[in-house]
Amino acid sequence: MSERIVSARPQENEITLDRALRPRTLAELIGQDRVRENLTILIQAAKQRGEALDHILLYGPPGLGKTTLARIVGHEMGVNVRVTSGPAIERAGDLAAILTNLRAGDILFIDEIHRLGRAVEEILYPAMEDYALDIVIGKGPSARSIRLKLPPFTVIGATTRLALVTAPLRARFGVVLRLDFYPQEALEQIVHRAAGLLQVSIDEAGAREIARRARGTPRVALRLLKRVRDYAQVHGDGRITAEIADRALALLEVDMMGLDELDRRVLRTIIEKFGGGPVGLETIAASISEEPDTVMDVVEPYLLQLGFLERTPRGRVATRRAYEHLQIPYPDETLPQQPSLL
Ligand code: ADP
Repeated sequence: MSERIVSARPQENEITLDRALRPRTLAELIGQDRVRENLTILIQAAKQRGEALDHILLYGPPGLGKTTLARIVGHEMGVNVRVTSGPAIERAGDLAAILTNLRAGDILFIDEIHRLGRAVEEILYPAMEDYALDIVIGKGPSARSIRLKLPPFTVIGATTRLALVTAPLRARFGVVLRLDFYPQEALEQIVHRAAGLLQVSIDEAGAREIARRARGTPRVALRLLKRVRDYAQVHGDGRITAEIADRALALLEVDMMGLDELDRRVLRTIIEKFGGGPVGLETIAASISEEPDTVMDVVEPYLLQLGFLERTPRGRVATRRAYEHLQIPYPDETLPQQPSLL
């Protein structure tokens, strides 16, 4: 897949930008009030008791701030945060090495935790529950298991797919928090804050235009800001206004609702090839030559949020709003529906 300007997943060149713009404290965090409140209580309680924080599972679409939150919690607790991910921990031994290097109170952030292998997961259960690491020494009949004690530590797990986290793993998290898409006003604040840090001049309307097209996702908002900044520098006097933002984003084919070419392709496929649905995810993905995972993780959540798409037991259905947005006439319910041959 080519890199989408509205992709909620991080892109390679963004690491430095991410680091510079990341909020560091709960007070600096914009939006996600419910999550912030829950974390504030957890942190205070753990500090008062002088204990490690309970294990926390964060879930929600990519780019909403799961990694950022883990780092903020580390900062607030005054502990180290070790960042890794499900696919990066290949063998049980890799996890054992990480665990034995943790210090009391440290946070282990595991992104994409639903992608941990089974053998690795099994090491994690006693580690999370009893701060214990079971190691098998030797092979065959003489093999025996010894139990190492670990310092108390906290796992912060992140996933875009709560349903794929196994029940025993999920049961080991004391707290499960959902991250939602950000409302427009929160994204505007995020854009303003970032523009300030990047020393770019932007007016209210310019920030509103970027926020409106950012798919409820801070990572997308920051990326659009960067691209609009470039445009403003080349085609204007460097200041970001609504007009500049609009022209820059139109050039990038990001439409008024933040949909890009891939989103529109998914909707058009459902409408034009499958008469508006219902149609299965795999079929949609196959007809546009994309991975089902990409469609499910990256395209669908936002289309569902906008009410352009519905999930039914028989498959995905494009709603009237999707037709309207694409300016395709909605089929008259009184007439028999004919899927077009396009
Ligand atoms: P995730 O782990 O959910 O994919 P990240 O934590 O990497 O998302 O966040 C993506 C980007 O968005 C980062 O650059 C981060 O600084 C920014 N970001 C996320 N949440 C916020 C927020 N609430 N306020 C400001 N910036 C945010």
